[in-house]
Amino acid sequence: MECHVCGGRTSSVVTDMPFKVSNTSIVIIRQMPVANCASCGQYLIDDPVMERVESIIKGVNTGTELEIVQYAT
Ligand SMILES: [Zn+2]
Repeated sequence: MECHVCGGRTSSVVTDMPFKVSNTSIVIIRQMPVANCASCGQYLIDDPVMERVESIIKGVNTGTELEIVQYAT
């Protein structure tokens, strides 16, 4: 897919990404499939992946400051 930021080429990579779920808690999702722009370095998340991320985040206990979750579980 094309980079939304600069229109450059992206390649598929698997990475860990942090998501802030409240003022005090962060969820790190490990081994997420994302696209990485070769020109500007931006990470782009596909809609189906984002939906899965949202459902993962919903299931996380936001009472903890840092939660690490595997994407593929
Ligand atoms: Zn870019």
